[in-house]
Amino acid sequence: MFTAFLIKYAEIGVKGKNRYLFENALVQQIKYALKKCDGEFAVRKTDGRIYVDAVSEFDYDETVKALQKVFGISGICPMIYVEDEGFEKLGETVVEYIGHVYPDRNKTFKVAARRARKNYPLNSMEMNVELGGMILDSYPEMRVDVHKPDIMLNVEVRDKIYIYSEIIPGPGGMPVGTGGKAMLLLSGGIDSPVAGWMIAKRGVKIDAVYFHAPPYTSERAKQKVVDLAAKVAAYTGPIYLHVISFTDIQLYIYDKCPHDELTIIMRRYMMRIAEHIAKETECLGLITGESIGQVASQTMHSLMATNEVCELPVYRPLIGFDKMEIVDISEKIDTYETSIQPYEDCCTIFVAKHPVTKPNLKIIRKHEHNLDEKINELVQKALDEDEVIIVR
Ligand code: ATP
Ligand code: MG
Repeated sequence: MFTAFLIKYAEIGVKGKNRYLFENALVQQIKYALKKCDGEFAVRKTDGRIYVDAVSEFDYDETVKALQKVFGISGICPMIYVEDEGFEKLGETVVEYIGHVYPDRNKTFKVAARRARKNYPLNSMEMNVELGGMILDSYPEMRVDVHKPDIMLNVEVRDKIYIYSEIIPGPGGMPVGTGGKAMLLLSGGIDSPVAGWMIAKRGVKIDAVYFHAPPYTSERAKQKVVDLAAKVAAYTGPIYLHVISFTDIQLYIYDKCPHDELTIIMRRYMMRIAEHIAKETECLGLITGESIGQVASQTMHSLMATNEVCELPVYRPLIGFDKMEIVDISEKIDTYETSIQPYEDCCTIFVAKHPVTKPNLKIIRKHEHNLDEKINELVQKALDEDEVIIVR
């Protein structure tokens, strides 16, 4: 029965003079999300609110799902519009609305009428009382509760009369694109997609880099990362995924450095390469899925060692999260099932039996020094062969 949605947004509301920028970005993101849905929609900004009007038949469930992936939306209110055909007729429509939307009428309610058009014959108080009375007459099992009603029935007199009562939660956050762009180090694991999603939720556009190590990591492992990027892109819009072939660099480090330092040195090269691409593509920071103490390469000492090679800020939104908390989010955003597919990643192949947990920076630097000019050539070659996949 619904033909439109009122979009509620929370934090954007407090952006002062720049508010319109956030609203415009939200409108753009909503339009983008709805492109994937059956049906045609008009998105409009009126009276400090955003409405989505269906201008053709549409798939309600699919549309709500799409809107629930737009950052910046705190609530989605399905609505109907009716022409003003007199108050009696409005009463009938409201009664019909309740009948349709609430098959179980053992509920409390409150009518909240509002008039944007003050020449309407009844004022809002009178509308509340009259419409409430009509509902009670039709559904004696319902009761009025003005403090904590189960159903808050909004009736707004505008160009037409708008009726809505449901609020479907949105994802919150800020519209993507209002917060610059960052480069996500995306592996096939559980953590990094969640980390990217969390930063994107704050309005940041995401690009990604994946370190691939053929033939040690398979085409299927790479496809898994593309699939994960697509899951994140459902929230963020298109992601430019840079696939960097890391094999030669890894083999060379494996050959030249003590194996217990392998992971740290490898990770330092990942960060260097990611930062290089980030700077070239106007990203303002890096994002990783690291969390303190999760593995040897994520102790405070190890994080300090990997962080040292970066000039750009490294955002680690999961830093204080337990694995279970990360898993919860990955299930919510639908990346979990993909993440747990059993394809090897490049770090698991080259791990030492006893990786250092307290790397000594001086020693790490010395061993990196032994890698001499050849490592820079390998890094340059990897950058030259960067394969960019646009994931939608
Ligand atoms: P994840 O679940 O995200 O793979 P993890 O627990 O396996 O994380 P690590 O393998 O130590 O942890 O990786 C830490 C972070 O480094 C990852 O969250 C990711 O941001 C980045 N990373 C690791 N491997 C790769 C890779 N092959 N390509 C790109 N980024 C990677
Ligand atoms: Mg990993």
